[in-house]
Amino acid sequence: THMYNIYCKLILLMWLMMCVVDKSAFVSSAQQGEVESGTRRKIKRLLSFQRYCHASRLLRGLVPHTPGSLHLLDDDYLGQAAHMLSKVGTWNFDIFLFDRLTNGNSLVTLMCHLFNVYGLIHHFQLDMVKLHRFLGMVQEDYHSQNPYHNAVHAADVTQAMYCYLKEPKLAEQLSPLDVFLGLMAAAAHDVDHPGVNQPFLIKTRHHLASLYQNTSVLESHHWRSTVGMLRESGLLSHLPADMSQDMEQQLGSLILATDISRQNEFLLTFREHLDNQDLDLQLASHRHFILQIALKCADVCNPCRVWELSRQWSERVCEEFYRQGDLERKFDLEISPLCNQQADSVPSIQIGFISYIVEPLFEEWHRFTEPSLLSQTMMGHLHKNKARWNKYLSVCTMLLEQ
Ligand SMILES: [Zn+2]
Repeated sequence: THMYNIYCKLILLMWLMMCVVDKSAFVSSAQQGEVESGTRRKIKRLLSFQRYCHASRLLRGLVPHTPGSLHLLDDDYLGQAAHMLSKVGTWNFDIFLFDRLTNGNSLVTLMCHLFNVYGLIHHFQLDMVKLHRFLGMVQEDYHSQNPYHNAVHAADVTQAMYCYLKEPKLAEQLSPLDVFLGLMAAAAHDVDHPGVNQPFLIKTRHHLASLYQNTSVLESHHWRSTVGMLRESGLLSHLPADMSQDMEQQLGSLILATDISRQNEFLLTFREHLDNQDLDLQLASHRHFILQIALKCADVCNPCRVWELSRQWSERVCEEFYRQGDLERKFDLEISPLCNQQADSVPSIQIGFISYIVEPLFEEWHRFTEPSLLSQTMMGHLHKNKARWNKYLSVCTMLLEQ
């Protein structure tokens, strides 16, 4: 296991280093035809990893520094990123900073680290190259142009999921398969999100809406895309067919649970279990249900974070709504609820979201954890943040009335 850890860390370091190496070096040597086919394949792989780094830099409008200073800077960044990883289980983990320090690779870096922490690579005999290929594909398939539904949101949900998997109530009961599925579902749960919601896809007759018959359209797409990437990378190809099929199905059931229109269904079942005190975490089916709830919590936990992080997520999600509203206006479609920048303010959207979605869910989660230290911290932030938005809302209303 020790050797394995060292090996994994080396691969991780190499992957991080690749992000700062100029790819022209590979291209020129490849063009000279000096490399043998095996090496060429390796280069191709390196370049495909580079594709994301390059694209993300261009999209963010970052001009690469001179090679010398870039190298020094990135060494320093990597050190800071590694230091942050040592505190990955703390609730005030700053995923935005972590994403900058890893040069836009927060999701891949975080997942590799957590797979190491849990010894999942060894347990499932995963091929490191395939794992990197898979995680690279997932990260790349998130749209970095989306203000909210991008790879940083996926990394944030994964980090929250990790915190929930560590809950004393849960940690001892979880099998390696539970942990594997929980982290994978968190990382991939919004992959290839187009930045608009389901009603938008339905009213514009998007092909995904007809493909999935207008139900859980986005979530079905996130799941099927994940399965596609799993098969393309061959990550699970060494496992017996019934086992990999079961994993795909469970991933689907977890990802589909994030459909917010099914919120009540899950909340009522959860509440009933807690009232009857009949949850038996020895049962795989009950653990699966709790994983669904944990993923749902992780997905909407923004208002439970410390204000500085919470506020950034609020602004991002509203920006994404407003962009949809602008599109609807441009194409003479009815503007969706919450998407009208003139009518729906950030504070009012947040207060609605907290009151109808976040509070009811986290009150039950709080109860489930009997309440844990983390739950108490989260509820504390949630109430403070809501009060703060309420204060902003009253200021907004006052200014409008004047
Ligand atoms: Zn999400």
